[in-house]
Amino acid sequence: MESYYTEEIGKTREQWPDEAAWMVGGRKSGWKDIEDRLGQAIWQVNDYQRLAKEHEDEWRVIATELEFTITLGGVEVYGFIDQLRKYRDGRVIPVDLKSGSKLPGNAQIQLGTYALAVEQLMGIPRPTEGIILHLGRPATAHGKEKPSKDHSYDLTHWTPERLGALYAQMDTAERLGLYLPNPTADCERTCGLAQYCMVKGHVPSAEQYERKA
Ligand code: SF4
Repeated sequence: MESYYTEEIGKTREQWPDEAAWMVGGRKSGWKDIEDRLGQAIWQVNDYQRLAKEHEDEWRVIATELEFTITLGGVEVYGFIDQLRKYRDGRVIPVDLKSGSKLPGNAQIQLGTYALAVEQLMGIPRPTEGIILHLGRPATAHGKEKPSKDHSYDLTHWTPERLGALYAQMDTAERLGLYLPNPTADCERTCGLAQYCMVKGHVPSAEQYERKA
């Protein structure tokens, strides 16, 4: 894993040699961030093994990186499910792994989509539960160790009709070129599109925002 990481970082560095432009986690240099992320990734792999071992009587992994294409609201949706677990009581649950520090706000939409894909791929009733496996963090000088943890989401709300309507709306917005900003505290730190954003953009131009007929 370590050599793969180093090799891929090397390739990326050749492509984008300006380290100052690299997005980093927190206030640190690009190379310190690269070093920290490797240490954290190795820790997370070990901690995942601990978690899987602790629950080996409860669930087992039946698929990883499960590719799917389904149609929702007339829109073709293509994706990969990180992990599919089968529980001892028969439940099949899609799992998404998150390695960042925060949980996503749209987890139910993502997991609800996965549940529909599982229904179609496996020919079983749609799972009504999904899990975000939030990978933990090693102890640092600033904080204690945070073990990896499952977060379960009830997906009964996310019916094919509801998700279909949502995807159809997103598709319509995309076709019309409607991109509505949704500012958060992380905009400037993590958004790769901030420079083009109507709210946060630094160099707006009349052409950029002109209304298309
Ligand atoms: S900078 Fe703009 S486009 Fe990026 S996340 Fe924030 S609101 Fe959205």
